[in-house]
Amino acid sequence: MPTAAENQIASEAKVLQSYLGGKWQSGEGEGADLVNPCDGTMRARASSKGLDLKAALEYSRNVGGPALRKLSFAQRAELLGKIADALAARRDEWFEISRRNSGNTKTDAAIDVDGAIGTVKFFAKLGGKLGDAHLLCDGGPTRLARDANFQGMHLGVPLEGVAVHINAFNFPAWGLWEKAAVSLLAGVPVLAKPATSTAWLAQEMVSAVIEAGILPPGGLSILCGSPNDLLEHLRLGDVIAFTGSADTGEGIRQHPRVRQHNIRVNIEADSLNAALLGPDAAPGTPAFDFFVREVVREMTLKTGQKCTAIRRVLVPSEHAAAATEAIATALSKVVVGNPANPAVTMGPVVNMAQRKSVEDGVRRLMEQTEIAYHPPSFAPVDASAEAGAFVPPTLLKARSGSESELVHELEVFGPVATVVPYCDKQDAFALARRGGGSLAASVFSGDGEFLAEAARELGTTHGRILLVDPSIGDSHTGHGIVMPSLMHGGPGRAGGGEELGGLNGLWFYHQRTAVQGSAATLAALVAQAADPRAE
Ligand code: NAP
Repeated sequence: MPTAAENQIASEAKVLQSYLGGKWQSGEGEGADLVNPCDGTMRARASSKGLDLKAALEYSRNVGGPALRKLSFAQRAELLGKIADALAARRDEWFEISRRNSGNTKTDAAIDVDGAIGTVKFFAKLGGKLGDAHLLCDGGPTRLARDANFQGMHLGVPLEGVAVHINAFNFPAWGLWEKAAVSLLAGVPVLAKPATSTAWLAQEMVSAVIEAGILPPGGLSILCGSPNDLLEHLRLGDVIAFTGSADTGEGIRQHPRVRQHNIRVNIEADSLNAALLGPDAAPGTPAFDFFVREVVREMTLKTGQKCTAIRRVLVPSEHAAAATEAIATALSKVVVGNPANPAVTMGPVVNMAQRKSVEDGVRRLMEQTEIAYHPPSFAPVDASAEAGAFVPPTLLKARSGSESELVHELEVFGPVATVVPYCDKQDAFALARRGGGSLAASVFSGDGEFLAEAARELGTTHGRILLVDPSIGDSHTGHGIVMPSLMHGGPGRAGGGEELGGLNGLWFYHQRTAVQGSAATLAALVAQAADPRAE
């Protein structure tokens, strides 16, 4: 139950203003409620009704863009360093908002908040290495004709538009800053549109950076509330980086304005990620134990609300019973409840609508699977099971991979995974690929040759593959954790996008143009450019 102090705060729900056109603005009407998922109390409201989004985009383009592009990569990297410091200074506040608006435990909040700050720091450091360059190049000039003086090269020129970043509810901090860091380093102003249900944290973080006066006017804007007619006003040079469900992503891709003007779009969508236990990894081996630990961690971190979370647990059929039992035993120790209580290891999902979506999803999956673990009685700690958006960790088991179509099609965005037995390694690879294109797969085995084969077999359908042999069992960063130095994204259903990947991520915010000219002309351009691959 909420404390008296919490009720007091709830009764003074914050109205989230948007920062557009260089000023804070309020939308009309009451807008949408942002709640504490532990008890449904309202924390904030957001409305974007009536805001002039055309003018907001023009301001970013005409004021923010030129100011950012005047700076070199190193100067912009320095700004990122200041942003990271400003965010780090208020880390405790961000954790508190994460608990109140997302139901995050400290560990959950750390992934989001520390992940955000760490990513900005990473690009501050990397961007500094690009020095006083203003352009990118992709290798040096090459000769194009008999006359060695006539040459050609690929140059990257920063886009003269706005980067519209549309984010999902599950990572209000990391989702915002992993995109903004790369865009700002590239010299492209950002208009962030956080998911409404958890926009509070994103709005406060943007507010902290605006207050600190780090960025030039128009460099960073935020729209709180629904996107309204935002996409109607995009034009050549603008880009959309979207993270969210496949359906919304498809709607954005098919938006008439986006299609007509060929607006560049990057989509990070949902994914049915698999963890694969190698045929050699029998119960009692280190690979088996590391696998079980990772499956449980992925199911419960952020209450399973990670686009990269393990949804399908592929195990050799002869070890299916042992793997299921080991995962179930570990899940029985998970303490679900209000994360204000430090004993709690898993909080609620983000709101009642999401709870219903998870419950419906489990019901649908059960048409083709059976329950392998579900707590016998479910009573969240320090919270009401009725009023809070709590769902228990649930492990399902398919009789065989081929019998259960839905397991490979339906993303249940919560603490839910399905054990799918396989008969041999070819069957295992085929099952992993049935996700139709995924963000991440992890493979656990003590057999190096099998791990290498898995990378070759899964490479075309997966954006990232984590190969765990026992030597890195304790040191790897986790199946679901996105590293800023590596590409994030996946083919097919996962959206077909690519984000991050170190400095390679800068290309999304640049126009690659083939430039032809004399050796001297191109040398002058090379002097103003940095090659991300060389850094
Ligand atoms: P969502 O419902 O698709 O919403 C995502 C964002 O799109 C929100 O900011 C939403 O705004 C906005 N939006 C909705 N309709 C729009 C429209 N017509 N035009 C422009 N923007 C629109 O997704 P979600 O429920 O927040 O997030 C959960 C999903 O995201 C899961 O499926 C998960 O797998 C996926 N996800 C993927 C990744 C990845 O990196 N691949 C990361 C995290 C999550 P409102 O909130 O105002 O509606």
